[in-house]
Amino acid sequence: AAEGILRRQAQRESAARTYARSLPIVPVRARGLTIEGADGRRYLDCLSGAGTLALGHNHPVVLEAIRGVLDSGAPLHVLDLATPVKDAFTTELFATLPAELAADARIQFCGPAGTDAVEAALTLVRTATGRSGMLAFTGAYHGMTTGALAVSGGATDVRVTRLPYPQDRRCPFGVGGAEGAELSARWTRNLLDDPKSGVPAPAGMIVEPVQGEGGVHPAPDAWLRSMREITAERGIPLIADEVQTGVGRTGAFWGVDHAGVVPDVMVLSKAIGGSLPLAVIVYRAELDQWAPGAHAGTFRGNQLAMAAGTATLAYVRENGLAERARILGARMLGALRGLIPAHPCVADVRGRGLMIGVELADPDTGEASPDLAVAVRQACLDRGLIVELGGRHSSVVRLLPPLTLTDEQAAAVLDRLADAIPAATR
Ligand code: PMP
Repeated sequence: AAEGILRRQAQRESAARTYARSLPIVPVRARGLTIEGADGRRYLDCLSGAGTLALGHNHPVVLEAIRGVLDSGAPLHVLDLATPVKDAFTTELFATLPAELAADARIQFCGPAGTDAVEAALTLVRTATGRSGMLAFTGAYHGMTTGALAVSGGATDVRVTRLPYPQDRRCPFGVGGAEGAELSARWTRNLLDDPKSGVPAPAGMIVEPVQGEGGVHPAPDAWLRSMREITAERGIPLIADEVQTGVGRTGAFWGVDHAGVVPDVMVLSKAIGGSLPLAVIVYRAELDQWAPGAHAGTFRGNQLAMAAGTATLAYVRENGLAERARILGARMLGALRGLIPAHPCVADVRGRGLMIGVELADPDTGEASPDLAVAVRQACLDRGLIVELGGRHSSVVRLLPPLTLTDEQAAAVLDRLADAIPAATR
């Protein structure tokens, strides 16, 4: 039966659907870190719905919250109407925000995807500032939409100025660490203050506290603080895209918390829905200048997602799972870095909390190697471990395990990866 499903899906689904091809598994059951295929094989799932499953698959508190809504007879789809479920979600979410933002924050439900919330954030700051330029970074990933507004006759003249993200091997300076951060900040200041630079007046700056899809590059805290300073001094709203870094993933509740930075807008999705689709932006009340209907979307009132999200946010907060991710993540990074001396194909190990990347490179040339990364992913799969790839060259093996990962599970993940790397690169 599993073969038939895989075959039909491979025929029917578009070629852009990669997972069904690169991970030929037919999951029929899942719990926590484990996925079980139709053939009875079990896998440790470090893909976690691309970082969505903070509590792993089917956590009891999430299931209970979903059942609670179903059993209550509440409407499942409510657009923008006020409901007790939405009230509980918003209250729990606001309790986790940086205090300075929570003190006077607004929320816009965007849903269902992170991309929707990014679009909303752009519309919000463009409206509030009356400007249309955007500052973004090399290696960034914020979503996939292009043109929906344009074909609807809306404003689409976003002009992006791309700035160097530090610790990014593609940044024009080609250096990382404190020096790269310093250079990136100086470059940004110079560009914004030089009247001849041609940079369109920016409506906002959008930044990921850790670039995930870009290959797991954590922003240095001091650099993020300098971006906050630069934008604040020039009246440019700072948008933190916390779609992937949020809800404890990086070892703090929000990625910006490490640096003590308070953004003007936060873009949230993935884990806030407790494994169901949900996306919101939260932002300073003074930016709330858009007209009713300025950002719409049919599926922004999913009560099941809000209930699952409330349960997830509360569980992470009450059980200190961000701190747990910080400690366990540091330990896992240390163990993975220990592989570097014996394995020249492991060019770098990066990450923060339980957002971990292992960069594969050709040992002879030092060039990023997507082929090696694909081979490692396959060797992992053969050993019952599901991992994701990322980075500009798809040469980074990424781990996004649930924050509920136990020490024993972490050891099993590391063992399988440590075994897969030499097997794939021999
Ligand atoms: N921003 C970031 C930082 C992301 O990692 C992603 C998804 N990987 C998105 C935005 C887009 O979210 P979605 O895929 O839900 O549209």
